[in-house]
Amino acid sequence: MRLLLVEDEQSAARMIAKGLREHGHAVDAVADGDAAIRQASAIAYDLIVLDLLLPVKSGLDVCREIRAAGNAVPVLMLTARDAVNDRIAGLDAGADDYLTKPFHLDELFARIRALARRRMLPLLPEHIDCGALTLDTRTHEARLDGQLLELTAREYALLEYLCRKQGTVVSRDEIAEHVWDGRYDPCSNVIDVYVQRLRRKIDRGATSFIRTRRGAGYQVIGFQAEPE
Ligand code: CA
Repeated sequence: MRLLLVEDEQSAARMIAKGLREHGHAVDAVADGDAAIRQASAIAYDLIVLDLLLPVKSGLDVCREIRAAGNAVPVLMLTARDAVNDRIAGLDAGADDYLTKPFHLDELFARIRALARRRMLPLLPEHIDCGALTLDTRTHEARLDGQLLELTAREYALLEYLCRKQGTVVSRDEIAEHVWDGRYDPCSNVIDVYVQRLRRKIDRGATSFIRTRRGAGYQVIGFQAEPE
């Protein structure tokens, strides 16, 4: 998933972003409310982690503004402990859930999974079957004919995105928007490099399970097991 992290405390932001990236998410991080609104209007994020107390504009203002603009992106608000009024105000402003500081990173990941499930259920089932290839979206494990594949977090994220859209052609722009973060260079061939790596790890026969659609992008078609 492509996430926007809005947190002005640098050390906390670094730690959260690192953890999310290790979980295979693409993360853009900004540190004030105005930057958050600009980012949210420019990119179709899958989820926003939004600190309540921010410089320039508060998390509440950010949430109200993006909702007023018709943006339904799931928002997880970070609030101070015991500030019941803040939590109520956050939910009233359009946040979907909140987490009180300080929190354990594992709880943040669990909340993000829960929000994603609630909001994108058809897009994010717990298991994805592409024929002989199966993905567990909770543990980020991919298996081919029951055998666990050794994939990096980014390789898994790319594979999951393609498999979620199996049968449809997915453009490089779309992949970049949902699997890579703002450091993605549109002139680079990094997506093609990752597709090649996945093919080397997954393909068994002559036909690749990730087909190249020239000028359009990539397409996964139900992956068939190797014939006996
Ligand atoms: Ca703050």
